[in-house]
Amino acid sequence: MSGLKDDRYFDADVETMSREQIEQLQEARILQLVPYAYQRSPLVRAVWEEAGVTPADIRSLADFKAKAPFIDKDTIRQFRDRHGDPFGGLACATAPHLRGVGFTSGTTGDPTPLPRAEEHITLTALKRELWHIGVRSGDYFSYALFTFREGLNSDKWLDSGFRPVTLQHLPSEVPHLIEISRRLRPKALFMISTPLIMAIDQYQKNTGTDLREAFSSYRGAVFGGEPMSPALRSLVQSWGLEIFELTSLGDISTAMECRAHDGMHAWEDLALVEHLDPDGDQEAADGTRGELVVTALADDVAPLIRFRTDDLVSLTRETCSCGRTHCRMKLLGRKSDELIVHGRSVMPLDLFPLLQQFPETQAGLFQIVKAQREAEQLRLRVGYDASALATSEAELSERIVGGLAAALDIPVRVELLRSEELTKSGHKIPRVIKP
Ligand SMILES: [Zn+2]
Repeated sequence: MSGLKDDRYFDADVETMSREQIEQLQEARILQLVPYAYQRSPLVRAVWEEAGVTPADIRSLADFKAKAPFIDKDTIRQFRDRHGDPFGGLACATAPHLRGVGFTSGTTGDPTPLPRAEEHITLTALKRELWHIGVRSGDYFSYALFTFREGLNSDKWLDSGFRPVTLQHLPSEVPHLIEISRRLRPKALFMISTPLIMAIDQYQKNTGTDLREAFSSYRGAVFGGEPMSPALRSLVQSWGLEIFELTSLGDISTAMECRAHDGMHAWEDLALVEHLDPDGDQEAADGTRGELVVTALADDVAPLIRFRTDDLVSLTRETCSCGRTHCRMKLLGRKSDELIVHGRSVMPLDLFPLLQQFPETQAGLFQIVKAQREAEQLRLRVGYDASALATSEAELSERIVGGLAAALDIPVRVELLRSEELTKSGHKIPRVIKP
């Protein structure tokens, strides 16, 4: 290597590794990980014994992909309940390394326990992302903590020189966010969510604050938590912010868009990322739809091994125009959310653009009513803005049914509700419900 560091990357050697180098690194880490976890994690031991596979059977990355058994959230929860183990059998370490236990958001049921070390690998990924946005040594960035409490200790940022300005991820913190943005001129905003954006918008309406000026130092804002609606996107863009979407990588790390905005990069030195046929074990082709399956490669506290995430993604390993070689994915929805109507797959993400074309339902508030995976018709509850109602409820209903049935080529049934009915329970509405 030459002595010159490529300024485009926080860690150029890792971020631009060749595919062969990535696979060699993954193989070395897998060969260490498997016996380690098999010895220490009661869940891994139980699942592998049941599958009749031992660490001795795994001599290469190819062996691992062919033989290692899968786990999912149900496996972890069942182990927790059967053995009374609060860590779901995942913990490979005890205190002081095991510092606590986190939980997944529980959007698909009972929250799943995830034991945590003090230093979580998410921070390694986050430094690369912040650098990409434009944060350099000595720069501040606004750190509105959402779920990643591990990052609070400023010692963790020493190697990067980045200076986090932490604030709580709460609507009541908006005045504080505006103040620190003006005073310290941070370079990145990590992160914003639908409720925080709505609170910033409300604050602007109440105070007349010039948000373009207040946010003028930011080179980007990270959005995560759920798919971003076009209306929300243009609102944030009107403040002069470039948006970088971020998602959880099966709860073991994160994946974030780069400036090319053509998929979210997952870091393959930290996770083995597989993309499999949703109904089987075969690898899905590059660029097609598959289920995201992850293995944590740099977690010695509670590594998830071949964890089926239930997330459907399209994934590519083609080198990105930003120069990074690590895979990119686009979220398509949750496998368990999929509804099949007359052989046609319908996901919540398919419905956002269709409902946003009507002024009354522009907010994209809807729920799919689903009894089983297959149905004779698409049944929807749709929230509408009464102040935008052009004619009558009956006419709106007819218009939506006609528009959706034509676009999807399946029978559609719609129950209309006032938007407030759907949002009263909180900021995030379940997109798929039982009848
Ligand atoms: Zn890229």
